[in-house]
Amino acid sequence: MMFKYVNEDQIDIELKCVICDDPFELPMNCATCGNTYCKACILKWVEKQASCPSCRQTGASFQPVISRVVHNQLNRLLVQCALCQQIDIQRSNFNDHISCTCPKYIINCSNNCGWKGVRESHQQHLITCRQNQFFPNSLSKFSNAVFILILAILLYWIFRRGDK
Ligand SMILES: [Zn+2]
Ligand SMILES: [Zn+2]
Ligand SMILES: [Zn+2]
Ligand SMILES: [Zn+2]
Repeated sequence: MMFKYVNEDQIDIELKCVICDDPFELPMNCATCGNTYCKACILKWVEKQASCPSCRQTGASFQPVISRVVHNQLNRLLVQCALCQQIDIQRSNFNDHISCTCPKYIINCSNNCGWKGVRESHQQHLITCRQNQFFPNSLSKFSNAVFILILAILLYWIFRRGDK
């Protein structure tokens, strides 16, 4: 988990899963008793027990919770990023935080140069990366060779003029 909940003990118990003790992720309802669990938690549970953890109904079926109220409450929960320590990120915005702004998230260079590093050092890297893209190693070797060739022709030409 790349985040932790802000003031976790103040989060409504109704929003917490009895299996993992955290607020629901992709909540699922038991069709028999109406109790709610995280999707991942209940799938793992029924693999072993084949029953609902609350009502013990064997072969109980579970369906996704569709209530907007529940989803809105879960989306508004505030979390802290475990990488950059930023607090008060809405849980529903956490994926955007990671994929767009988190300065401590490890990304690949957008130029596909093979560089990998935290987002905050990417700008610094880009300065040298752009120079390398402009003068890749093979190109500078090639231009060195051309330079030496031109020099050789020039010297040859000067010596020939001297011969006359
Ligand atoms: Zn859970
Ligand atoms: Zn149940
Ligand atoms: Zn972050
Ligand atoms: Zn790069």
